[in-house]
Amino acid sequence: MKCPICNKGNLKKGKTKEYMCGVFLGDFPAVVCAKCKESFTDSATTKKIEKAAKEKGVWGLSAKTKITMAGNSLAVRIPKKIAEYLHLENSEEVMIYPENNKLIVEASA
Ligand SMILES: [Zn+2]
Repeated sequence: MKCPICNKGNLKKGKTKEYMCGVFLGDFPAVVCAKCKESFTDSATTKKIEKAAKEKGVWGLSAKTKITMAGNSLAVRIPKKIAEYLHLENSEEVMIYPENNKLIVEASA
């Protein structure tokens, strides 16, 4: 069977290391493309990955947010569930910097 992503590689049985929000969820059985390394899991495995993500509290953490004006600066609203996950408090100081086209907000653990 050919890979549906690159249309070149053959799919082989293997394992995939799953991460969500930088948290390692575990190794899961998958078919992996020999060429582009894209991995595909069946629906039962996808459910297991979802379950692992929920157990680690990272399921559904990513969210859309809007940039707003705050004086001459721009402000990013941090959704409540992410604030709670990172234990962020109002007025807390955080480090903020760009990295590979991403905006990193570093909480002091
Ligand atoms: Zn491929």
